[in-house]
Amino acid sequence: MRLTILGSGTNLHPTRAAAGYLVRTDQTILLDFGPRTLSNLLKTGVDRHRITHILFSHFHADHFSDFITFYFDAVIYTKHGGGWRPDLTLIGPRGAKALFRSIMATFPSFSDPPFRVHLKEVTDRALRVGETLITPRRVVHVPDLNSVGYRIEYKGKTLVYSGDAQYCDSLVRLCRDADVAVLDCSFPATKPGPVHMHAGECGQVAEEAGVDRLVLSHFYPPADRADVKAQAAENFRGTVIKGKDLLTIRM
Ligand SMILES: [Zn+2]
Ligand SMILES: [Zn+2]
Repeated sequence: MRLTILGSGTNLHPTRAAAGYLVRTDQTILLDFGPRTLSNLLKTGVDRHRITHILFSHFHADHFSDFITFYFDAVIYTKHGGGWRPDLTLIGPRGAKALFRSIMATFPSFSDPPFRVHLKEVTDRALRVGETLITPRRVVHVPDLNSVGYRIEYKGKTLVYSGDAQYCDSLVRLCRDADVAVLDCSFPATKPGPVHMHAGECGQVAEEAGVDRLVLSHFYPPADRADVKAQAAENFRGTVIKGKDLLTIRM
């Protein structure tokens, strides 16, 4: 399994794209699709028209807005460019169907694409795509907002992505014994903020869950100005990696 970080920042970070990750197993999967991550996807050399599943953690713009550009491009490619693409399955927490239906309905020439679009809302039930097992789990982010993290298992290896999350038992359980956990490190421990974790809490989650490698990501600019690796390592004995755009991690 290979993970490539497409975006390790937030909405308007000056040097990092917002949230987005490319996961390669027997499938080519995207986790979130925030602003500027589509440009980074092109840099990986992956054929965007072969992506069949996109998993969304929640519907803040820094996690989904490049999907709109991706979708328009896919429709133009298949309708007018003579291209073909397989079905596209969009997976997310409750609210996903209403959001994607409204995006498609808003633009009439894009509401009936030449490929099938499947919409799936998830809570905590696992699903299998080919040989890849995907387990979503609800996590706490903003009160009253449906947010999930994802656990992806393939050939005995496990990758977990928190989405945006606060420290919560559910996230620790999702991360249990993961080879790699990519956690929301919006803030430095020295300057924590609301509804996200800081570096120290990322270390705490990784330690309690028995994670092997912790990848810190989703940085607001103040997190870049602190030594978040050292702050996470104060609570975690495993390996800490500071995420950056286009970094690939193999497991
Ligand atoms: Zn969010
Ligand atoms: Zn976010």
